[in-house]
Amino acid sequence: MAYDSNNVFACILRGEIPCDKVYEDQEVLAFRDITPAAPVHVLVIPKGEYSSFDDFASKADPETVAHFFLKLRNIAADLGVVEGGYRLLTNHGPDASQSVPHFHVHLLAGRPLGGLLPGDAHPR
Ligand code: AMP
Repeated sequence: MAYDSNNVFACILRGEIPCDKVYEDQEVLAFRDITPAAPVHVLVIPKGEYSSFDDFASKADPETVAHFFLKLRNIAADLGVVEGGYRLLTNHGPDASQSVPHFHVHLLAGRPLGGLLPGDAHPR
C-alpha cells in the first residue's frame, strides 16, 4: 500500500487537524480516538510515513520498531491501565477494515473488553 500523505493522521502530524494528545516525542505521537470504543481508547502512531503495521515492520529500522513498542508500554503505564488490563489492536488492510492508512495501534482499556472480535461467543 503506497503511503497517502493526505490521510487524517498525516494531517494531525502536520498540525493541520487538532488532536487530544496523550504523549509525544521525536518519533511517536499518542492521542485519544475521536470515537472511543472504551473508556480509554488511545491511538499510538509513529511519525514516519508507514501505511500499516506490515509496512512499518518491513521498512522501519529495528531501533525505530523497538522504540515504538517500548513507548507503547510506557504510555499504557502512564494511563494507569496496566493493573486493570488493556488490549492492543492494529488493523492491516481491507479484511481488517483498516480505515486510516497510517500505521496505528489502538490501546483500549477501562472496562472488561469481552471477546477478541465483535460477536465473539467465546470471550477470553
Ligand atoms: P482503523 O479502523 O483501525 O483504521 O482505526 C482508525 C481510527 O481512527 C478509528 O477508531 C477512528 O475513530 C479514529 N479517528 C479517525 N479520525 C480521527 C481523528 N481526527 N482523531 C482521532 N481519531 C480519529
